[in-house]
This record gives sequence, structure tokens and C-alpha cells, in this order.
Amino acid sequence: MSVVERQEWDVVVVGAGGAGLRAAIEARERGARTAVICKSLFGKAHTVMAEGGIAAAMANVNSGDNWQVHFRDTMRGGKFLNQWRMAELHAREAPDRVWELETWGALFDRTKDGRISQRNFGGHEYPRLAHVGDRTGLELIRTLQQKIVALQQQDHKETGDYESRLKVFQECTVTRVLKDGERVSGVFGYERESGRFLVLEAPAVVIATGGIGKSFKVTSNSWEYTGDGHALALLAGAPLLNMEFVQFHPTGMVWPPSVKGILVTESVRGDGGVLRNSEGKRFMFDYVPDVFKEKYAQSEEEGDRWYEDPDHNRRPPELLPRDEVARAINAEVKAGRGSPHGGVFLDVSTRMPAEVIRRRLPSMYHQFKELADVDITAEAMEVGPTCHYVMGGIAVDSDTAAARGVPGLFAAGEVAGGMHGSNRLGGNSLSDLLVFGRRAGLHAAEYATGLAGARPPVDGEQIDAAAAEALRPFSAEGEGRADGQPPENPYTLHQELQQAMNDLVGIIRREGEMEQALEKLADLRVRARRAGVEGHRQFNPGWHLSLDLRNMLLVSECVARAALERTESRGGHTREDHPTMDRDWRRINLLCRLTDPTGGLAATDPVAGQISLTRETTDPVRPDLLALFDKEELVKYLAEEELYE
Ligand code: FAD
Repeated sequence: MSVVERQEWDVVVVGAGGAGLRAAIEARERGARTAVICKSLFGKAHTVMAEGGIAAAMANVNSGDNWQVHFRDTMRGGKFLNQWRMAELHAREAPDRVWELETWGALFDRTKDGRISQRNFGGHEYPRLAHVGDRTGLELIRTLQQKIVALQQQDHKETGDYESRLKVFQECTVTRVLKDGERVSGVFGYERESGRFLVLEAPAVVIATGGIGKSFKVTSNSWEYTGDGHALALLAGAPLLNMEFVQFHPTGMVWPPSVKGILVTESVRGDGGVLRNSEGKRFMFDYVPDVFKEKYAQSEEEGDRWYEDPDHNRRPPELLPRDEVARAINAEVKAGRGSPHGGVFLDVSTRMPAEVIRRRLPSMYHQFKELADVDITAEAMEVGPTCHYVMGGIAVDSDTAAARGVPGLFAAGEVAGGMHGSNRLGGNSLSDLLVFGRRAGLHAAEYATGLAGARPPVDGEQIDAAAAEALRPFSAEGEGRADGQPPENPYTLHQELQQAMNDLVGIIRREGEMEQALEKLADLRVRARRAGVEGHRQFNPGWHLSLDLRNMLLVSECVARAALERTESRGGHTREDHPTMDRDWRRINLLCRLTDPTGGLAATDPVAGQISLTRETTDPVRPDLLALFDKEELVKYLAEEELYE
């Protein structure tokens, strides 16, 4: 039996991005002893990379804004597949969450009259993104960390111990959620630096692990985003919702190769940047879909006037939702009108004075100068689509963030599904993290407190199995090696997975290619059993990747299976063989489950169990929310029987 450090907490939060930290603060404030555990350094999460801002209908720049307009925009952006109750809560509560950040010390950019400034973003009817230059996520994380330190100082005053009620375990990776029967009993993980194992016993676990981008070759995501939380939930018996919806952000860097995929924030377009093809044409005017035609400018002149006078002009099509812009760029490149390195041109240099560009987009200025030797105040950027965000995720209750079917499991942030439907609007993630992070922390604490003395015990056999699973890549006896086959290199497996997902389940999808992807994934799952590493447990990145592979393979299979099943194009899911949105599919959610997640094959097998996919009818949208839309618009989205209802 391996040596394992054990500690008892009331609530364990897995992930220290915006969702995890907001959940931890709430749980601790509700009286639960709370541990936060994160794979990288404390403060290093995707949230810190968020550039554009937080969407909240505060109406500081245009008094026409309110939660109802924000709700409408979010549902339109998600093509009505959003879990509508989440979209409602999000739109109603986002302004309070932004105000709260200011009371905790955040300092947003201001309007001339001293209010929190808000900027334009794709799909948002009014300027709505509260921001700090193009470094909003940094301020958000800094503020939440500061709040955590303040709570720890308070605890120190009362108990003499800073970590008595709120403790952060950084550079620790969780590999299993432990259970007592159906209920959660804690988590198992390892310290990345020492390789030591730890078990945090807790009746409530909040998963807030962010995205899955590292399963794709070209991505804006960093190394941690291997779909761990999605896989942890699957392995614990919770379903994943609508995993076919992956967002390809239209503007990632395309050159040089070493930085391909790094994000170019949408604020560049929100602040006036335009997209041109190799012929110098502003091509987005050719790509406005019917559902959006009335809302977008038909000429460059009108689009340009909108920046000065948004009340009397329509917005430029560069500010269409991301899925539309990404598809348009893809089509231009395919038609041979791309830039030298396979993207298109994004230009601010001819649109704003150099000094304004440097002030409003400081990170972009430095990013291009340092990584590509391009001065964006003098020349255009080359950009193309990059895998950015996953709309699909753990199926949760809209109000409580409880994961379906596993008492004690909660999920918030990018890892949770439903909120964004088939496509997320920019800026709606940071607000999602705060709204649902708070709700997850609140309900996890209430759940844990409600159990009083009856905490689910941690099963020693599960700990042993989790330890054996984690050690498997070191084992000379590993399956496959005994039969003479050489071990597999985890890096090679990862590259093959990324290439397959990029080429076969990427921005434009075809039936035959997705079938090929599933065959490839099945092959990789078998080969992943032989993923082997040398050396020891002290900081060993090859070992860490071998363990992450289980998660990426499970999640990728969910994406491919759901994408094959959904025979329509909607939001982030584009089928070349089914190019239009089908109203009947609006009523259908796709749920992936792992059958036989723990039994059957030994729990040490990284790929035990099968992904099964089921259809489920969505809840009808509440009538007062439907009444916010014109009937003519609803006809474009709702299924026939919904319209009658
Ligand atoms: P993250 O912030 O991704 O944090 C996840 C946490 O989980 C990390 O601490 C990680 O270490 C931890 N973790 C992962 N796996 C494990 C494990 N197995 N064990 C323990 N810990 C684990 N959205 C906006 O709304 N506005 C923007 O302007 C914006 N800009 C963006 C720019 C970039 C470059 C990127 C990549 C994203 C941007 N987004 C933006 C999206 C947004 O930043 C993310 O969706 C959001 O930050 C996700 O937050 P989260 O709390 O869910 O997870």
C-alpha cells in the first residue's frame, strides 16, 4: 500500500481559476472548512489570461442595457440551446458579482464620469464588458486571491492558524473523485513536485478545472487544460452534456509556428479592428447569416459610423458571434484568399492612432512585438481560428450547480455545461465563473453542513486502486509490455491525439472523418495502456502527461461521438454534410456517460469502460423569458411543437 497523506475538510474545490476561487470564498464564508487544490501555481489559471473583460449589464455606457437584453444576447449567441435558467441567473446576477469585486479591491477602467467602463464585444447588443485594459483576468484573479488572504488573516486572528479554515494546495493534480456508494467522500491526487500522494476527505467536492483545449493541436489553452474535471466527473458517474460544442476562436496567432494558436483578443475588433483577406476586402460583409441580418451593418460606412453613433447605426459584422467569424475566416483561407501564413489580416493600425492602440491593447502590442516581431500600430496582424473554449461540460442543476446523479459533486466555470448553449459570447465566461462559482460554493457548503456527523467514509480499497492507477506508467509489468510490445511514448500519443482531433473533429466536421477519429481514438486508448515512463516520481512531466492522457482520450471520445450524432450545424458545431440549423434539434441535449466506470476491468486501467450517448429533451423555456423575443425571431429557433405550446 502506498504512503498517502490524509486530511479532512468539509468542501474541496478542485481548480483555482475564477470559478474555483469564487466557490472557495463562498464556502468558507458559509462556515465550511474549505481546501482548494490546483494543478499549477496558485494564480496561474486560464482566468488570469482573460483579456477582453467581464460581461455584465450594468448600463454604464449605454442606458438601454439591462439583464433582459443580456439574457437575449446570450440565448441568441448559444442558438437557444442554453440551459435557459442558467442564462437567466447569469444575466441577473453578473452586475452584482462585478460590483462585489470592486468592494474586494478590483479597479476597473473608468468612464469619463467615473463609472466602470464597458466595451463592445461580439454578439453583445450594448457595450457590456467591464475591463482593465486587456488584462482583465489578471485583476480578477488578483482580487480573489487577495480576498482569500484576507479571510486567512481573519482565521489566523481567531485560531492562530492561517490555514485552519481555508487552505490552498498548489501544484497538486487530482486524479480521482472518491465515493462511498453513490455519494462523494473526497479526492485522490499527487503533488507534482514530490510525486507524493494525498487524499482530501470531504463530503462535498466542487470541480472547477476549466477546459479541454490541449486535446487539439492549435489551441489558445495552456498545458493544464486536459479535460481533467470532465473526466473526473465521468469516472465518478456523472454525465457530460453537449460535448460536441467546442469554440474555435476566430483570431489566434498563426505565425511563427511556435506561437500558433495564442489568442488575439476580441477587444481588437471591439475597439475597431477590421478583418481583410489577401485582396484587401473586408469579407465579413459577405458572411452575415439570415438570423442576424437585421442587426448588422450592410456597408463599411454604416459599420464605421456605429463606433461613434451606435444608436442610429448597426454594428459591423466583424462583431458577429465567434462561430460565425471563425467559419468565415476558414472559408476565406480555403478559397485561396488567406494571408501568407494561412490566416487573414486583422488590422488596427489604419483604424486608431498608435498611442491609443498601445494604451487600449497593451498586451496585444507586446505579444506581437515580442513573439512575431510585428508592430501592430504600423502593420496588420495575421490571425486564424484556434481551439479556445468548451461549451459542453458536466451536466449540472442550474440553481445549485450540483452535478447530476452524484450527491456531493458540484461543478462551476468552463467545466460545467449548459450555460452557453452551442456557442459562448466573449466576456460571458468571466461572469459565468463568478455567478456559478458563488452558487457552487454556497450549495456545496450547505450540503456538507447538512450532513452534520454523517460524513461518508473514505474507502481504503479505492485509495489503493487510485494509487495503483497513478503508478501504472512506471510498472515494467504493465499490460502490453508482458506480451513483448514496447512501451508507448506519452508525448507521441498526445501529438497523434491532437492531430486527429484537429484534422477530423475540428472547425468543419464530416461524418466519415468523425468515424475515422473514433477509430483512431479507440486505437490510442489501447496504446495508452502501454504509456510508460522512466525515472521516478519527483517532478516527472512524462509521468504527468501519461496520467493526463486518460482524461484527454475520454473527453475527446465524448466530443467525437456527440459531434457525429448531431446531424445539424449549430454554434460551435459545423457539419459540412448537414450545413443548416435544424429547429427539431433545439429540443435535444446529448449526454455522454461512462458505463462501468469502476468495475469490470481493474480500476487501474486508464481506459476501462465505454462511453455511451443518450438523447434527452430540453426543458421548455419559461413563457416570460420567451416573451422577451419577437415572435418572428422565435420562429427561427424553436421547434414546431414549441411554437404551438
Ligand atoms: P480556469 O481559470 O481554467 O482554472 C482551472 C483551474 O483548475 C486551474 O487552477 C488548474 O490548475 C486547475 N486544474 C485543472 N485540472 C486539475 C486537476 N486535475 N487537479 C487539480 N487542479 C486542476 N473569457 C471571458 O469571459 N473574457 C475574456 O476576455 C477571456 N479571454 C480569454 C483569453 C484566453 C487567452 C483564454 C485561454 C481564455 C479566455 N477567456 C475569456 C475564457 C476564460 O478565461 C476561461 O473560460 C475561464 O477563465 C475558465 O475559468 P475556470 O475558473 O473555469 O477555470
